[in-house]
Amino acid sequence: MRHVLRPLFDQVVIKELEPDRVRSSGLVVPPGTREPPPQHGVVVAVGPGLDWWESAGVKMPVAPGDHVVFPASAGVWIEVDEERLLVCAVRDLLGTLEELSDCPLCHGEGPGEGDACPVCGRTAEVPRPE
Ligand SMILES: [Zn+2]
Repeated sequence: MRHVLRPLFDQVVIKELEPDRVRSSGLVVPPGTREPPPQHGVVVAVGPGLDWWESAGVKMPVAPGDHVVFPASAGVWIEVDEERLLVCAVRDLLGTLEELSDCPLCHGEGPGEGDACPVCGRTAEVPRPE
């Protein structure tokens, strides 16, 4: 029988992504750092949150299927049915990694001629002379 690890409180369960998939995901490891690079995985299960969260209007900020980045030191790695899983508190996550389709800054237009948008990296299309 397969097992499912059900996270408690504000913990999440993350499945590690294969290194080649990490590379194609666009996550870049900063050069020249001695720290182990951040890891990248997919959220497979999310705890219910802490008991005071509901009265404070706090919700779990991630959902199963989200791609997340976390420090190598985060949480505890365990093995369930021969699958490597990380259990960590949601506050230990560095963020979610999303594909940028609609840029919130320039809306895909680029900020102006010659400049690249700092959010999406797009440059404005320079009209070609005809
Ligand atoms: Zn942009």
